[in-house]
Amino acid sequence: MDLYALIVAGGSGRRMESDIPKQFLELNGRPVLMHTIERFKNYNDAIEIIAVLPEDQLRYWADLQKKYSFEIPHTLVKGGSDRFFSVRNGLKFVCGTGLVAIHDGVRPLVSTETIRRCFETAEKYGNAIPVISPADSLRMETDQGSIPVNRQFIKQVQTPQVFNIDLIKKAYLQEFCPDFTDDSTVVEKTGERIILVEGNRENIKITNPVDLLIASTLCHSIA
Ligand code: C5P
Repeated sequence: MDLYALIVAGGSGRRMESDIPKQFLELNGRPVLMHTIERFKNYNDAIEIIAVLPEDQLRYWADLQKKYSFEIPHTLVKGGSDRFFSVRNGLKFVCGTGLVAIHDGVRPLVSTETIRRCFETAEKYGNAIPVISPADSLRMETDQGSIPVNRQFIKQVQTPQVFNIDLIKKAYLQEFCPDFTDDSTVVEKTGERIILVEGNRENIKITNPVDLLIASTLCHSIA
């Protein structure tokens, strides 16, 4: 069975208040994206890794790989104007029969167990996505003011989202729709039922400056 990790890092990361895109910011001495790629290589040495980057950052990434002596092989693909198009570009390099894990390049703290749970469940059911339960109380704003939301029914969705290759390639033939916030929403639109598995709480998406501080503390404790 062919196993792929399609790591999307095609965004500009404006919320980080930094000129350097967030996937290249240093986390414990190395760019975030190197940690992320390594998580998948550690899970399975034979996994095919595809990284999607903005076209104008490909040279910079090549320089970083030299600077940090980063040698994990991966195919580089140009990003698109929205995450949907970055994934679609990456999927052109996925072939064969098997599974593909689509993962945000800015989630370097995904655990091996989360990756394993997603792959093993997707092998049985065709797809699997990792989720965690919210710790905070939740409220929803309405025209009549805010109302409480029962958090028992809410899940926070992470990546990697793992899919059967045929299934995800067909799903990405659909036209773009702004409601596609992740890969499971794209697949769900084809009528597929999405399977939830437990994620890991450390698997944060590095989005704001504080996330990098949190990640640097947690980095050493992820197995
Ligand atoms: O913007 P957001 O936080 O949802 O990005 C999630 C992931 O998708 C990030 O790793 C980002 O680099 C990637 N992305 C992409 N192409 C885009 C926009 C975002 O690969 N056009």
